[in-house]
Amino acid sequence: MARKTKDIDGEFDVVIAGSGLGGLTAANILARNGWRVLLAEQHFQLGGLATCFRRKQHIFDVALHGFPIGMQKTLRKYWSREMAEHIIQVKSIRFDNPQFSLETTFTSEDFTNILVDKFGIERSVVDAFYHELSEMNFYDADNRVNRELFDKYFPGRNDVVRLLMEPITYANGSTLDEPAITYGIVFSNFMSKGCYTFSGGTDLMLEMMQQELEKNGATILTNAKIEKIKVNNGRVASAVINGREIKCRTVISNGNLLNTINNYVGSEHFSDGFREKVAGVRLNTSSSQVYIGFRPDVKVDFIGDLLFTSKHPVYDPEALLAADSTSRTYSVYYPEIRPGSNDFTVVASMNARYQDWAGMGAAEYQHAKDKLVENTLNALEEYIPDLRTKIDYTEAATPLTFERYTLHGSGASFGTKFEGLQVSMKLSDEVGGLFHTGSVGIIMSGWLGAANYGVITANNADKYLSS
Ligand SMILES: Cc1cc2nc3c(=O)[nH]c(=O)nc-3n(C[C@H](O)[C@H](O)[C@H](O)COP(=O)(O)OP(=O)(O)OC[C@H]3O[C@@H](n4cnc5c(N)ncnc54)[C@H](O)[C@@H]3O)c2cc1C
Repeated sequence: MARKTKDIDGEFDVVIAGSGLGGLTAANILARNGWRVLLAEQHFQLGGLATCFRRKQHIFDVALHGFPIGMQKTLRKYWSREMAEHIIQVKSIRFDNPQFSLETTFTSEDFTNILVDKFGIERSVVDAFYHELSEMNFYDADNRVNRELFDKYFPGRNDVVRLLMEPITYANGSTLDEPAITYGIVFSNFMSKGCYTFSGGTDLMLEMMQQELEKNGATILTNAKIEKIKVNNGRVASAVINGREIKCRTVISNGNLLNTINNYVGSEHFSDGFREKVAGVRLNTSSSQVYIGFRPDVKVDFIGDLLFTSKHPVYDPEALLAADSTSRTYSVYYPEIRPGSNDFTVVASMNARYQDWAGMGAAEYQHAKDKLVENTLNALEEYIPDLRTKIDYTEAATPLTFERYTLHGSGASFGTKFEGLQVSMKLSDEVGGLFHTGSVGIIMSGWLGAANYGVITANNADKYLSS
């Protein structure tokens, strides 16, 4: 069971600030390796963005639309075989927009056939595009941006770009101006071997993770905010949690990268050159969501598992961010996701700009949220007729909601842009024993990216602790 800060005594080898998938995974590996681990989460429950919440008889999953098959290996290796066995495929992924309507399994084979048969692209061009993606290497000095990559293979084909890019924009806030290498890596992971989910839902996964952490001896605190990371002679000395100073040799922050450097540690502990790099790090964009719960007596016909829908005429990452955007991803959670349950929910996710929501008065904010729900219900009615007679619960989340529950500046739901990765990875060169993990640099984003970055960070922290 998660404990309270006042019950903690003694010192720790590692304090982990935040229990997103990066922090949780790092905590589990280090606890398993025998280090004294304290995991402190400021929220009352674990998971960060990989979370869910209960309203009436419903459980709403916030970020369980789908992830790459690689998550199965990550769970098996760094969590448990039992958890890996919960990974199941998301079978029906649909696109519906003015340029095309189609269904796909999110595999390279299926995308190839669609590009050739439906979009009329030469098979050799599609193969060459995939080949180039597979050859992309993080360590190559490749300065091209996505726009150049698409112009090379599919010039003038905004429809093709929409098919290949829009899911990635939804998943990590990428635009056509991001480094092509980020697209290559994420696409090869995410849209080549299908899309997967966790049978039993986010609540079961987090419960299993908590049990595993406790079995491995980690101490877990909730409602526990890391307020300060104290540095002595260039090394981490302690962490201040809810006003209480806890001695430790390392801190892994799963909190926002810029908060970690500027607020928790303090920029005075970093070199001028590093501070300059930090100043150039851009936070990624945010999200809004509408959660829709259906009455228990209602049976809804199958409409697909994941629907990328839009009325916008073309692929345009800026338009995806607008508060009144018509571009939405619907995740449809049939009761089967939680075997034995009859709970049917739909979660609509939109990309969003923090500035469009910040600074409103209470009444204006409530009105904007109501409008978001109304617009979403109107749009979903196209796929589920008589929708309003079938539902019994709606709620909206905005960038302010994401900021409140995760403390990410500007409600950034996908970490930072690419330049944040180098800063995140070099923290310990500046302050001994200081590490960061979680969504950063676009590549380390999403369930798989965040969890795998937790593995990398845990290994680095382990080396530091052993040295
Ligand atoms: C709407 C939405 C839908 C998504 N859907 C998917 C999807 O379908 N598939 C997918 O792969 N990815 C999805 N993602 C992305 C994915 O959920 C995230 O990339 C991943 O969960 C982030 O993990 P993280 O380790 O970066 O930590 P985060 O989830 O960012 O969590 C950080 C944690 O640190 C805590 N914290 C922060 N500061 C402190 C502090 N000072 N002290 C203590 N605790 C602190 C926060 O409370 C939080 O719990 C989605 C994201 C959003 C927003």
